Amino acid sequence: MREEITRLMSLQTIDRELRELQNSLSSIAGRVDLLRLETEGYRSELSRLTLEEQQSTLNRRRLEKELAEGEARTRTKRMRLNQVKTDKEMQAVAAEVETLKETTTRLEAELIALMEGAEARGPKIKELAALTEQRQAELIAAEKEIAAQVEDLKISIAKQKVDRDQMAQNIEVPLLQRYEMIFSRRAGLAVSEARDGTCQGCRMRLPPQLFNELQKHLQVYYCPNCQRILYFEAPAKE
Ligand SMILES: [Zn+2]
Repeated sequence: MREEITRLMSLQTIDRELRELQNSLSSIAGRVDLLRLETEGYRSELSRLTLEEQQSTLNRRRLEKELAEGEARTRTKRMRLNQVKTDKEMQAVAAEVETLKETTTRLEAELIALMEGAEARGPKIKELAALTEQRQAELIAAEKEIAAQVEDLKISIAKQKVDRDQMAQNIEVPLLQRYEMIFSRRAGLAVSEARDGTCQGCRMRLPPQLFNELQKHLQVYYCPNCQRILYFEAPAKE
């Protein structure tokens, strides 16, 4: 039984290293993912603003054309005012001129609003373009930098897994399954020392009877509180 516990402890050492490796791998990958996400965010905001800018420029041209046409029409109407014969006709043309003026005023206000929008958008586009470029460069640098690291980690993990499987083969399946379950649910500590009558995994005092029994190494014992597999190391003689 003592031997079985020793194997479990070796397995736990390997599993903990494996866990570390996998954690570093995902934290490295996470950093690059974050950078990529940020870059994509900037880029999509930039393309939204650029599209808005193009639309605004088109609208501006349309408004400028409409304004020019309106002015030409107003000039024609004004000339006609000098030629009309009757009061009624005069009133009609004057009303048309008035309507044209109102339209001009409205178009001018629209044009000014568009110009103000463009004025605010310009610096934003510039800033975003610079940020996007900067993040993109950082992303490429980070990807390059970690590529080798990731490769090394993947190789280490694969090697470690081979050792792990070999070690696991020597452990009874039910015990192994129980160990794996506890390992994943108890933050990578499944085999815990029982010292001075206390489970070192959860710090709970063990029933004296259990503590006595497990020192004999006759079977595998579990902590009644945290379910960890217990082992006892005889204190070194002074
Ligand atoms: Zn415990």
